[in-house]
Amino acid sequence: MPSLSEETHGKVDHLLPGATMGIVGGGQLGRMMALSARYHGLRIGVLDPTPDCPAAQVADFQITAEYDDRAAIRELARRCDVLTYEFENVDADALDAVRDIVAIPQGTDLLRVTQDRVREKTFINDHGIETAPWRQVDGLDDLRSAIERIGYPSVLKTRCGGYDGHGQKVLRGPEDFTEVERAVGAGDPLPPSILEGFVDFSFEASILVSGNGVDFVTFPIVRNEHRHNILHMTLAPADVDEAVAGRAEKLAVSLAKGFELAGTLAIELFVMPDDGLIVNELAPRPHNSGHYTIEACSIDQFDAHVRGIAGVPLPQPRLLSPAVMVNVLGQHVAPTRALIPDHPEWNVHDYGKADIIRNRKMGHITVLTDDPAAEARRLDDTGCWDDVEEAGHERDL
Ligand code: AMP
Repeated sequence: MPSLSEETHGKVDHLLPGATMGIVGGGQLGRMMALSARYHGLRIGVLDPTPDCPAAQVADFQITAEYDDRAAIRELARRCDVLTYEFENVDADALDAVRDIVAIPQGTDLLRVTQDRVREKTFINDHGIETAPWRQVDGLDDLRSAIERIGYPSVLKTRCGGYDGHGQKVLRGPEDFTEVERAVGAGDPLPPSILEGFVDFSFEASILVSGNGVDFVTFPIVRNEHRHNILHMTLAPADVDEAVAGRAEKLAVSLAKGFELAGTLAIELFVMPDDGLIVNELAPRPHNSGHYTIEACSIDQFDAHVRGIAGVPLPQPRLLSPAVMVNVLGQHVAPTRALIPDHPEWNVHDYGKADIIRNRKMGHITVLTDDPAAEARRLDDTGCWDDVEEAGHERDL
């Protein structure tokens, strides 16, 4: 991999109204990016296999094809002035192959790093930032020696393609190692993985940082509550000391500088009982935990992303009001819709997805409040989010 400093990012000087931004991936993140791009007078093209996907509904054109269809990516590049993406598992080689015909201000090193847990953790540690202790695992022998170093409990995660608990296994003791050993013996090979120490955090948090390749700005650190590994709620800001917030900002800017970041990057964190911060993972794009910024901040994560991609200066985002964001999954659509008339304070976002499916992200609700913890309780008390069933879910952003 070339070092980031050697890479030509293909930054744009300043994208003018009328220029076209192409988005690989047409889900809700692409849709909200496209809506922001509209305010800048940009035209929008989307590549997504689902006809009339959420982003296509607000775009100028859609190329209906798989994300890794190289001819389709070339076609998108040909019709656009600048390309971005809404998720990290985009074929970086396919993007590199079109860099002679379209600007890709985010570059592809950012993708290559965030697609691979070994590269990602190495990058984070190389910037002096703490992660859980980890070891690369390329087979059972590696796993055995990683367990000797890290101990139990620990978490075995696939290097690539895992997200939100998928491709993960908690190893609580030797019996769990034996189970992995047996599966490998039965012909289920261990994919390239990492083993990391189990982190006994106080709570999960995240921070967003945006840049235009040169200047970087941060959003406040927020607290995230998950259910069944899917984000349930974000409370903004997180109830932490100024010193903790300051450290989160510092690490975010340090990573952004390292990437020469253009656009928005999300950093998922564990906040420790002693107020230490451990980085869990990075997402090279706007993030579900940043949706609150649409109503609660002076500039939102999507606008910051678009400005960064377009080479426009970025103002420091200001939190105008504390807020709570709650996700509306498939099973929450009917109960929340029934209560909308009683809740004028709910800012309801619907992603325009045709099929309502359990655990699929269909929309979200943001409430501005002076007391996020009390509002979070009020939302839960409506009973709309009382589902307890566990199930798999689609690619989670
Ligand atoms: P990830 O796919 O890495 O974002 O992990 C999904 C969820 O698993 C996180 O949001 C945490 O709740 C939990 N998790 C991941 N890694 C660890 C760890 N090393 N220790 C404890 N919990 C973890």
